[in-house]
Amino acid sequence: MDTNFFDVVIVGGGITGLSAAWYLQQERQAGERPFRYALLEQTDRWGGKIATETITGLAAEPFVVEAGPDSFITQKPWGLELARALGLQDDLLPTNDGRRQTFVLHKGQPTPLPDGVMMIVPTKITPFALSPLLSPLGKLRMGLDLFIPPKTDGADETLAEFIERRLGAEALDKIAEPLMSGIYNAEAERQSLLATFPRFRDIEEKHGSLIKGMLAGKKARASRSPSANGRSAAPTSMFMSLQGGMADLPAALQAQLTGECLLETAVTSIETGDWISENLPSPVSDLPSPTAYTLTLDNGRILTANTVILAVPAHVAAQLLGDVAPDAAAGLVAIRYVSTGTISLAYRRDEIDHPLNGFGVVIPRSENRPINAITWTSTKFDRRAPEGYALLRVFFGGSRNPQMMDVDDGELVETVRRELAEIMSITAVPVFHRIYRWRQANPQYDVGHLERVAAIEAALPAGIFVTGSPYRGIGIPDCVRQAQQTAQQVILQLSAASSKLQTESSEV
Ligand SMILES: Cc1cc2nc3c(=O)[nH]c(=O)nc-3n(C[C@H](O)[C@H](O)[C@H](O)COP(=O)(O)OP(=O)(O)OC[C@H]3O[C@@H](n4cnc5c(N)ncnc54)[C@H](O)[C@@H]3O)c2cc1C
Repeated sequence: MDTNFFDVVIVGGGITGLSAAWYLQQERQAGERPFRYALLEQTDRWGGKIATETITGLAAEPFVVEAGPDSFITQKPWGLELARALGLQDDLLPTNDGRRQTFVLHKGQPTPLPDGVMMIVPTKITPFALSPLLSPLGKLRMGLDLFIPPKTDGADETLAEFIERRLGAEALDKIAEPLMSGIYNAEAERQSLLATFPRFRDIEEKHGSLIKGMLAGKKARASRSPSANGRSAAPTSMFMSLQGGMADLPAALQAQLTGECLLETAVTSIETGDWISENLPSPVSDLPSPTAYTLTLDNGRILTANTVILAVPAHVAAQLLGDVAPDAAAGLVAIRYVSTGTISLAYRRDEIDHPLNGFGVVIPRSENRPINAITWTSTKFDRRAPEGYALLRVFFGGSRNPQMMDVDDGELVETVRRELAEIMSITAVPVFHRIYRWRQANPQYDVGHLERVAAIEAALPAGIFVTGSPYRGIGIPDCVRQAQQTAQQVILQLSAASSKLQTESSEV
């Protein structure tokens, strides 16, 4: 048996690569053919941007510090479905929704986002009217959404154009930009509406107004609620984490994989190979393919594969596909990235006067601060800080403050502590801090993104797939969905190639 031949090689051991391997395995479990795959990850751990640090020794319970994502959205079901399928049902950790309150920094003060604002759209008049967050004119301008005719040409536009068109410039500055571009670490003036918030365009087209659409959605949900139909069902929190931290998700995936899973193994180049099935010394698979690919690894090993799934950043995929798919590589290079960082700080609770009465503060660009947002982690989730302690997480970098990526750790901590003192009156010395820098890590879905992705996909030769956060959804559920779809496409392509070869050989 040629141990260097695989039906599928998956490059990248983040959530996308791990999920792709798992779904391939699931799809093939019922299949009768032997099926070999390898999953290659260049670092010494699985999970990519999902990483959790557990800090013990300061109290009876540990601190659980997230370096990357702290949760996944449940409205997009694929993350939750995967966690349940992996047997993590009892480990799910919802956000503390009873204490859900977002603050927006307004003239230097954390100011509550008014009750009833759904996404960015007000659905309750009184709290919105009383909020100091927007000026009376800004509020009136938002109300014009009820009368402005919808755009119906289907064309993409930036998030900024959309929000300004429907709700006005103040709504963009105070609510949409910090809340919505914040999720993507994006600039609203470049961010594609169709690639990031297509639902808003759908609502606009269907209801003619965001406010009318949100109110209709609220009414429909109320009529479907357990109290309305007499059935009781436990409501699912909008965001979910795992008790031991987000890294439990990639760990559970990896534990169930039966393929060859290699850490500290980077792919350095991919070339088209002349694979002919009869030439294999001892075929481990009878799945043919018109072409095969050879992958050179950084340890010198050379693998052959019928199919390659690239679950790596787009700039890495571009470099690997330069020879095999130059047009696709040119498209991949055009997907822009920014760098971001987080710093988590732990405090003794009795050394902070602030009530930490919410999930945190988002910071509009117009406030001109060197940090982008603060999450009050130990309020947002249980089990993140031991009794008697508080854990905060500050976001920095991105396109708004790129210079913050390059300041040294000492200066960063100093700046962040100064910000916490000014914004939240926290002057205590943290018990510890942890800094995580994610360089060239955040793909930007600039306007026209979906067309660029479609062109990249169309330019890929048979047997090469790109998938994951750079393409059709950045969050964990979208990465899982894309991995699942890619696994299905791979199986289809391999089966089609197999049938073709069988037909050809029976014709000979
Ligand atoms: C600070 C931060 C906070 C976030 N918060 C959230 C959140 O709360 N909720 C949410 O849903 N999402 C969040 N995200 C986004 C989400 O974490 C990512 O989009 C997602 O984890 C990306 O997964 P991926 O597998 O596509 O890519 P990655 O995680 O980037 O994995 C790619 C892997 O490929 C490996 N690799 C690269 N080159 C090679 C090579 N040549 N050979 C082999 N391996 C290679 C890398 O080492 C890496 O492990 C956050 C991201 C960041 C940075």
